[in-house]
Amino acid sequence: MTVAPKHAPLIDPFARAITYLRVSVTDRCDFRCTYCMSEHMQFLPKKDLLSLEELDRMCSAFIGLGVQKLRITGGEPLVRRGIDTFFRAMTRHLDSGALKELTLTTNGSQLARFAPDLAAFGMKRINVSMDTLNPEKFAEITRWGRLPQVLEGIRAATAAGLKVKINTVAIKGFNEDELFDLVKWCGDEGHDLTFIEVMPMGEMDEQARLGQYWPLQDLRARLADRFTLQDLPDNTGGPARYVRISQTGQRIGFITPLTHNFCESCNRVRVTCTGEIYTCLGQNDRADLRAPLRASDEDTALIEAIRGAIDRKPKGHDFDYTRGVGGQVARHMSHTGG
Ligand code: SAM
Ligand code: SF4
Repeated sequence: MTVAPKHAPLIDPFARAITYLRVSVTDRCDFRCTYCMSEHMQFLPKKDLLSLEELDRMCSAFIGLGVQKLRITGGEPLVRRGIDTFFRAMTRHLDSGALKELTLTTNGSQLARFAPDLAAFGMKRINVSMDTLNPEKFAEITRWGRLPQVLEGIRAATAAGLKVKINTVAIKGFNEDELFDLVKWCGDEGHDLTFIEVMPMGEMDEQARLGQYWPLQDLRARLADRFTLQDLPDNTGGPARYVRISQTGQRIGFITPLTHNFCESCNRVRVTCTGEIYTCLGQNDRADLRAPLRASDEDTALIEAIRGAIDRKPKGHDFDYTRGVGGQVARHMSHTGG
């Protein structure tokens, strides 16, 4: 069922319709992945975060403006207390047909507990981040994470009927040697797999991050040495490109923000856990939605602020390791939401 949005849809200055919203619901996490957080993170005071009611109002406003896909992320979204009530509330938009997809990006640590509820709330597919199948390496890269817990969570999700896509950050000298093991494991378990290039986010030690950078062109070339790769047409409007491995039928995605410019088809915006809308992951341009949310119970000012931000959505991002700090963004992924 297709439902016309309540208001005129969100169209940016480059004629891109904004139909995909990603919302970070917390900056907290039970892991400390080395490429995402420092070991001793200072988290925000609770009053700075959007409350569950504010999240509901804001997401509902976006849905009224034509957003059809909502992805909840973080930090770790499943450590936000009460997040299940928020998900339950969003099912009304799925039921009405205004929202086509409600989904989640998670580290998987809490999935064993949440998976049946998530399926009951109408989720069909979720993304789980996992960079290695080796328990020691997993503990090393996540600092606080434990692989068996995540594997149990993934099994629970599958058992609950959720389709799981694994997201793996490609890290030079860390999981290069596991490329084929990861592909095989996902194939055997029936999960799609997407590789992500390390992005220059947060207060990075530039040399360290440059050392971690494993270009996906390289990774793809290695896959092509062993398998026949068939390019698949892109229909996500996002940064992922997909191939099919002819021999196994498996689908592999590549998110290459640094080597492939995907901005022309961008259909998404992000909102941080404090209610700041970022219309481009790689730019600092943002607008505050928390103030209009808190100033009034009416959504007029909120909708105006959303439209104002979309009217300024930049044409594209600026990531480039070769230009030093110019192309970097000094905020953590856990703040913007990956
Ligand atoms: N905690 C959840 C998780 O890990 O899936 C959701 C939030 S996390 C910030 C979202 C995604 O961003 C994860 O797949 C993570 O691997 C990715 N990520 C974090 N920092 C990154 C970086 N510097 N470069 C590339 N991907 C990054
Ligand atoms: Fe937490 Fe996800 Fe960041 Fe890892 S990538 S520290 S799991 S928010």
